[in-house]
Amino acid sequence: MPIKLEIVTPERAVLTDDVDMVIAPASEGYVGILPHHAPLLTTLGPGELRIKKGGVETSLAVFGGFMDVRPDRVVILTEAAEHAEDIDESRAEAARARAREALQAGPVGLEEARARASLERAMVRLRVSERRRRRGV
Ligand code: ATP
Repeated sequence: MPIKLEIVTPERAVLTDDVDMVIAPASEGYVGILPHHAPLLTTLGPGELRIKKGGVETSLAVFGGFMDVRPDRVVILTEAAEHAEDIDESRAEAARARAREALQAGPVGLEEARARASLERAMVRLRVSERRRRRGV
């Protein structure tokens, strides 16, 4: 029995599919969801969402939100979701370098929070993109 996976952002339905397993970046750590999982409602951190289906793994970068798990379905409501193949690595590297540089200047308050969030987004994008490259897809 597969799991019905739905990924939705404020802008659009990103993905609807029957899958074998979902590994999601819950705020408290990565959780693996197989069919018949106990009901679970959790917040998501920025991180890598891995999906396994028929021996093939795909991944997306997701940026916060919620995951609602039921025994036969998983609904992910996230601020943004980017497929690994849509991620521009050089853009993420540039964003990471900019954020690191900004943090070295010792920003405070909102500026620091902005730079940290930007660094985290860039790192998630790079991790997702790198895993895809390693898979050779
Ligand atoms: P940058 O500083 O490169 O703009 P950012 O983290 O500030 O990165 P966001 O504000 O998170 O960017 O996203 C703005 C838009 O750009 C979104 O639609 C997002 O999907 C897209 N985007 C951001 N970085 C990348 C990337 N490396 N590859 C592909 N799309 C990206």
